[in-house]
Amino acid sequence: MVELNTGIFTLAGAQQYLEREPELHVDQLSARIWTVCDGVRRTLFVEADSSVIAFDTLATPGAARAYRKAITAAIPGKPVQTIIYSHDHLDHAGFAADLAPDADIIADEMCAKVIGMRKAKGQLLPTQCLSGKRNRLMIDGVGLMLLNPGPTHGTGNLSAYFEHEKILFSSDTLLPNARYGLLPDYHIWNLVRFMRELQQLDWNTFVPGRYEVTDRARFEKGCDFFVAVKVASQQAFAEFVPIWVLGAMEEYVGGKLREQFGDLDGFDENIGLIAIRIVHHYLMGGWGLEDTWNPGVLLADSLTNPSGA
Ligand SMILES: [Zn+2]
Repeated sequence: MVELNTGIFTLAGAQQYLEREPELHVDQLSARIWTVCDGVRRTLFVEADSSVIAFDTLATPGAARAYRKAITAAIPGKPVQTIIYSHDHLDHAGFAADLAPDADIIADEMCAKVIGMRKAKGQLLPTQCLSGKRNRLMIDGVGLMLLNPGPTHGTGNLSAYFEHEKILFSSDTLLPNARYGLLPDYHIWNLVRFMRELQQLDWNTFVPGRYEVTDRARFEKGCDFFVAVKVASQQAFAEFVPIWVLGAMEEYVGGKLREQFGDLDGFDENIGLIAIRIVHHYLMGGWGLEDTWNPGVLLADSLTNPSGA
């Protein structure tokens, strides 16, 4: 019997969730770049000369198989030969074994280190690790730049820049809405400063790791919104709002930001949860080494063996 790729789940009943193949929505962004969304997660794939380059795997084994079918339907006759992990999270990059088990896998060295230690079923180890802020690659005739300006979300988060198409892809960082409430593993201290470095590149289309494709103006508003929640969350301390009470934070931060940001989709439903998450950054000090002034110290002991063996 073939061993199932169950990620890190231990409950047999979770298989129903893992195996379901979601309906995917595919759009072509340029002659060779396509985007695909399962209703929440979004990613890219690229037609190369004789193969396909797929970013990420989507969220489950079932979704990874649906992703493979969507690629084949869009680009018949070319196999997925390269997978690029945007970051380590299982809901984006957990299931290469179901997407294309023989593909070359490219990831940032820190991402590779986490994956090697995690040993989730179906999350294949990278075969090529990148380091540094910018890597220009040529893969089967496709030129692209992979960027890791510093810790933003998850570990070893790589953004992709397509200079010719003026497209930027950055997974689980900024969104054109307020629909991602929990913000798990966002590096609150550094997110906006590093994302603003990516604004210096010449692009018109922003492909986030969730929800709809957007543009520079919405990206900028996403940065401003994040900063505004950080300010209002600090004000909540100063005014002795009970910062661990969801309703209280929803009322306080929501009230301060509704006029400027209330038009963001999901604002009313999520502002309380977003504020609770960010308030705890100030309360506790952040996510470890990633949430410091100099997160480059993370790389002081750089990767030599991602398998951890
Ligand atoms: Zn993530």
